Amino acid sequence: MNLDLKYLYSLGNNILINEPMKKHTTFKIGGIVPYYIIPKTKNIFINTLNYIIEKNINFKIIGGGANLLINDSTLNFIVLSTEYLTGYSVKENILYSEVGIPISRLSYIAMENSLSGLEFASGIPGTLGGALFMNAGAYGGQISDVILNVEVYDTKEKKTHILEKDLLNFNYRKSIFHERKYIALSAYIKLNKKDKKEIENKMKDLSIKRWEKQPLEYPSAGSFFKRPRPNFYVGTTIEKLGLKGYSIGDAEISNKHAGFIINKGNAKFEDVIKLSEYVKKIVKESYGEDLEIEPEIWW
Ligand SMILES: Cc1cc2nc3c(=O)[nH]c(=O)nc-3n(C[C@H](O)[C@H](O)[C@H](O)COP(=O)(O)OP(=O)(O)OC[C@H]3O[C@@H](n4cnc5c(N)ncnc54)[C@H](O)[C@@H]3O)c2cc1C
Repeated sequence: MNLDLKYLYSLGNNILINEPMKKHTTFKIGGIVPYYIIPKTKNIFINTLNYIIEKNINFKIIGGGANLLINDSTLNFIVLSTEYLTGYSVKENILYSEVGIPISRLSYIAMENSLSGLEFASGIPGTLGGALFMNAGAYGGQISDVILNVEVYDTKEKKTHILEKDLLNFNYRKSIFHERKYIALSAYIKLNKKDKKEIENKMKDLSIKRWEKQPLEYPSAGSFFKRPRPNFYVGTTIEKLGLKGYSIGDAEISNKHAGFIINKGNAKFEDVIKLSEYVKKIVKESYGEDLEIEPEIWW
């Protein structure tokens, strides 16, 4: 891969060479990428993107790695991390944030400022960028409910734009970022003034629910399958089919929540794929529903 490392360092990047991606995903699965680049600021991120696109280098963007299943073989793309894009500010009821900030931290910042609207996100792993990509949501809320606009980098034009909410094409676990080669850089979020204690209590309640219902003690990528239609609960369906605890290698259908595939220790990419194919087959035969995998798969 023809990468001018000297130039990339001079822009202001941290660069990890031959980096195992299992270190950067909540599933703890993933092979080695030749370069894992961490730009130190938003401008450095943009300059690095300009260079990588100019050079026609295959790349991917990572936030918190909480919605990724990555092949364990050697990978022929480089990864750009949003980890340092964590600037934010609060003005009255408007929260501005760069995309690398963990979404749970953002909900805490909102609470500290007596701002309501992000309580649903308090236990969601990952970053604001990943939440925008997936339109992350939980317990009746989703990120699209509170977004005003998003600053995006258009990889075709190598330019940044502001996209107002109605142009972001938010839907169930979908957004414009699935359709266009855009990268989210920052966002404005509109919240409502509320009693801080009330917000805090709601966040605590949701956190307790999460720990009661989800296998948070094991590596995973969260719910493994999308809901194929409203009111079709995948976890309950898989449980009814008697598949709780079913495993291939170290990949297992969680005994706590059948919608989660967990990594019991040394699960391989292939184990997870085979297990999910098996679940899809049984659900199709029994209910006629086609399940779609929720995490993004990187080959
Ligand atoms: C235990 C557990 C519980 C979970 N619970 C929930 C839940 O309740 N609700 C829910 O919705 N999800 C849940 N998830 C899934 C995950 O937390 C969300 O999808 C989250 O939004 C992923 O964010 P991330 O930063 O980790 O994204 P990553 O995993 O890093 O990336 C996911 C995708 O987003 C893209 N992406 C990341 N940043 C950007 C950016 N700045 N611009 C464009 N594309 C970008 C990546 O390229 C990739 O395609 C859970 C996951 C786990 C492990």
